[in-house]
Amino acid sequence: AAKDKGRNCAHCYTAEMGVQIEEQADLEKGLHQALLRKELELHYQPKVSLKSGQVYGVEALIRWRRPGIGLIPPDSFIPLAEETGLIIPIGEWVLRNACAQVKAWHIAGYKDLTIAVNVSALQFRQQNIPELVRNVLADSKLEPKYLELELTESVLMQDPETIALAMRELKEIGVRLSLDDFGTGYSSLSYLKQFPIDVVKIDQSFIRDVTSSINGASLTKSIISMAESLHMTTVAEGVETEEQLGFLNINRCDAIQGYYFSRPLPLNEMVKLLAEKTHLPSDRCHSESAKR
Ligand code: C2E
Ligand code: MG
Ligand code: MG
Ligand code: MG
Repeated sequence: AAKDKGRNCAHCYTAEMGVQIEEQADLEKGLHQALLRKELELHYQPKVSLKSGQVYGVEALIRWRRPGIGLIPPDSFIPLAEETGLIIPIGEWVLRNACAQVKAWHIAGYKDLTIAVNVSALQFRQQNIPELVRNVLADSKLEPKYLELELTESVLMQDPETIALAMRELKEIGVRLSLDDFGTGYSSLSYLKQFPIDVVKIDQSFIRDVTSSINGASLTKSIISMAESLHMTTVAEGVETEEQLGFLNINRCDAIQGYYFSRPLPLNEMVKLLAEKTHLPSDRCHSESAKR
């Protein structure tokens, strides 16, 4: 927003804005080259089922390893990629890499691992996503059911009819669709029922509060039970503590993701995790609490 002001409002230009604009221009130039120079990489964060206690999938999260600067998180360059249209080739790169990687894991013996890929609103508007997905699945020989696309409410709100159509096409292909950051927008789950959503990801702002406020706890409980009645499964995002996990387990959330189990990991560390640590302690998931 600050950048828009800088562009449209010459009379309120300040030295500080000048620096910002320069930085922005530098970032933009760098991002153009990032793909060609192979500076983008995917990190992977496991998702753990609370039913089985097992890692059943991973979410691919992009990072930019910028020479001389370090690892840049997506929030610092995805908005710029969207503004400049670079999100189209970058998004395609993410999808291809993620699908190829999970296929390699299947071949290595992790047979049923799923991969989740974030897709932004602009990709849906500027690109035929179902067609892209069909091509990438064919090229990687990945079965559609192992691919999950994560969309946010803002994607659904931009152009609900077109998006709903694209989503139905994606369901026909056989991929899973999940609603990311649920609860941060303004829509109710019953409104969202018009979209073919398989998974609701409860935003980390709710999870942060489940053990510290009655409101946080009851909101999260009602999201879980509404999702269940709409035949959607639930994943809690940003689970950091034992207490949060306990709450989600008792309240029958289907799965968790968060620092408690693992941070997003670069490829080599994810490979290690898959070999060494693929489940929660058995007293930390439904299967054990059911026995008690
Ligand atoms: P998201 O899809 O909601 O991803 C979850 C974010 O929460 C990730 O941040 C993850 O590192 C962070 N996180 C996970 N567990 C915890 C936890 O226990 N505590 C806390 N405090 N944070 C946790 P990250 O990787 O910086 O990604 C930020 C956002 O950037 C993502 O939010 C997603 O919207 C976007 N993004 C990431 N990769 C891509 C991509 O390939 N394409 C597009 N279009 N967007 C992407
Ligand atoms: Mg996500
Ligand atoms: Mg999220
Ligand atoms: Mg997010």
